[in-house]
Amino acid sequence: MLHTSQIQISKSALNNNIEQIKKRINNGARYSMVIKANAYGHGIETILPLIEECGVDHYSVFSVAEAIRAHKVKKEKCDIMIMGFIDDDYLEWVIEHDISFFVFTLDRLRKVAEVAHKINKPAKIHIELETGLHRTGFTEDQLDEVVKFIKKHPKDFEIEGICSHLAGAESIVNYTRIVDQIETFKQRCNWFKDKGIEPKYRHLACSAGVLNYPDSIFDMVRVGISNYGFWPSKESKMMHLKDKEFSKDPLKRVLSWSSQVLSINTVPEGKYVSYGQSYLTNRKSRIATVPVGYGYGFSRTLSNNGHVLVDGKRVPVVGNVNMNMVVIDVTDAPKVKIGDEVVLIGEQNSTTISVSSFSDMNNSMNYELLTRLPSHIPRHVVD
Ligand SMILES: *Cc1c(COP(=O)(O)O)cnc(C)c1O
Repeated sequence: MLHTSQIQISKSALNNNIEQIKKRINNGARYSMVIKANAYGHGIETILPLIEECGVDHYSVFSVAEAIRAHKVKKEKCDIMIMGFIDDDYLEWVIEHDISFFVFTLDRLRKVAEVAHKINKPAKIHIELETGLHRTGFTEDQLDEVVKFIKKHPKDFEIEGICSHLAGAESIVNYTRIVDQIETFKQRCNWFKDKGIEPKYRHLACSAGVLNYPDSIFDMVRVGISNYGFWPSKESKMMHLKDKEFSKDPLKRVLSWSSQVLSINTVPEGKYVSYGQSYLTNRKSRIATVPVGYGYGFSRTLSNNGHVLVDGKRVPVVGNVNMNMVVIDVTDAPKVKIGDEVVLIGEQNSTTISVSSFSDMNNSMNYELLTRLPSHIPRHVVD
């Protein structure tokens, strides 16, 4: 084996998740799968052909770099939408390749018109509205100017969408903020309609929107984390399971990550393990190493904190996570030997390490730990 660890991508889990999420959308809204941040660590090139097989034909990315990767592997008929960063130098490429994108500043709107005019092709844009996240998006006082500018350049724009993003729909504390956002979004869309701008897609919902706020589902949804089998938060899972119609956990984890035992030593009682003094043996211990460290996506925050599976048992990470190695205590797993499989995320003999218990911290860590999985670790598709 060339690499020190492998990532497995489960096709059936992915299929299941998409099917389950689609069941929550009953108005025929277009399904855009968010594949930013290397498809939440799953690998754009690995995931894309699989989701195409599931009938998903719209992909949301954050940057041109991701759009280029998706464009290389996607089928002709599938669409790409950029939600974030585009350098002016790449606008031409984006418009030329029929890639749609969010516009959230007047400067960008002007620049787009200029490029579209130059290549004589309308740009497919989604007007992003500020509705309460206070991050990106046109504020209410800018909208007159937006409309005026668009109407002045009818040949340069195809207004494909109006959109906004929810400010933490996965968390109960944001409830009123989210409800207000949905209302504001509706009103603004109607305002545009009155001005004669009525695009094909109005879109607001992310995973937590689809799962917990059906009113946030308009003509398109942008679903990320739940496709990969993770709940946006524990609360969003709980809120969802309280719904009688969907009382079973519908999501299955797509990704698992494994390595193997590199070495095993016996360490006497009263010795510090790994760098520094963060872990002292309180008994004669069997200490093993696994060749994945923070340089391989195994976060340093898991020092003395994370767990892995080996010989079907959950064993603790001891001492600090190193750049290339993590140290585990296998004293209570006496059968473990060099070369045995170590599961970092996933299942072994029906014991599971989920990404969130892998960190034993709050669930929002899921997003971070997943997206930090280095792209150089090979991804294998399994059934
Ligand atoms: C990341 C992102 C999403 C998807 O969010 P999930 O919580 O992963 O479903 C949707 N819309 C925008 C603008 C995003 O940046």
